[in-house]
Amino acid sequence: MENVFCGVDLGGTTINIGMVSPHGDIVAKRKIPSGVKKGVDYVVDQIDKVLYECNGSEAKEYKTVGLGIGVAGLVDANRGILKEATNFPGWRNVPLAAKLEDKLQLPVTLDNDANVAALGENSFGAGRGHAHMMMVTLGTGVGAGLILDGMIYRGAWGAAGEFGHITIKKDGRLCACGRLGCVEAYVGANGIVQEALENLDNYPGSTLRHYDPEVLMPKDIYNEAVKGDELALTVFKNVGENLGYGLGSVVNLLNLQRFVVGGGVALAGDLLINSAQEKLREVALNNSEEPVRIIKASLGEQSGIVGAASLAMAAI
Ligand SMILES: [Zn+2]
Repeated sequence: MENVFCGVDLGGTTINIGMVSPHGDIVAKRKIPSGVKKGVDYVVDQIDKVLYECNGSEAKEYKTVGLGIGVAGLVDANRGILKEATNFPGWRNVPLAAKLEDKLQLPVTLDNDANVAALGENSFGAGRGHAHMMMVTLGTGVGAGLILDGMIYRGAWGAAGEFGHITIKKDGRLCACGRLGCVEAYVGANGIVQEALENLDNYPGSTLRHYDPEVLMPKDIYNEAVKGDELALTVFKNVGENLGYGLGSVVNLLNLQRFVVGGGVALAGDLLINSAQEKLREVALNNSEEPVRIIKASLGEQSGIVGAASLAMAAI
């Protein structure tokens, strides 16, 4: 009987659960409403039910030997405690790993979603074969997970990887964190829109002028860029450069081999990545044996399940 590892991606609205082989193949998966408002015991029961169901059907030829779980929140990974999570009302200092272990009689490992995604890409995705890498998730926020020596680097109290709040500009734009000049203020979804709005007057012929500035989204700017709008193209060039400044500093500090970029905004893909890559080459000290490359994440929507399962694999 081959072993499988259960990967759980616990979100505010849904839970994605999958059984993953040691080669990274998903042999069974389910998606259920998360019910976090009903409390932790309810959620633990739901996960137990799904596991039981999978073990009786698609996964019945396999033996489940561990469970990994990723949560969007502040996690004490060593103690398996979810300290707090914005989308989980009432959940504070929840010993989630211990509760699951009691119920399922399996070793359980817990971490935050950024670290889980990074480990998944490192084990089975675009970062495979690179023991020193960082995964950057671009969306409204800019999250990151660091893999050093093939392992998640969590820092002194689990707060490592806050790439989005590295300062890239003195007295720069106001960031959601309340500080000035952070990467996120330039590369996050709002930063991209702001980049367009700030440059609108310099491009009187831009199609972006037809959009309501109140509801302009990065997706709109991307669509116009694809059609060749000069302002839209400039926005992604500038945003990419700002990303490259940040990544260059990280390379100089940590001698990484790869950056894996995922998340909603990463759909802008090549536009953003080419510009970031160029700036990174300029900012990074020329001391590497191989060029540091920025590549797109490859696990897509499976990343939560596969990443969480790889967390369980790493714990054994
Ligand atoms: Zn910030």
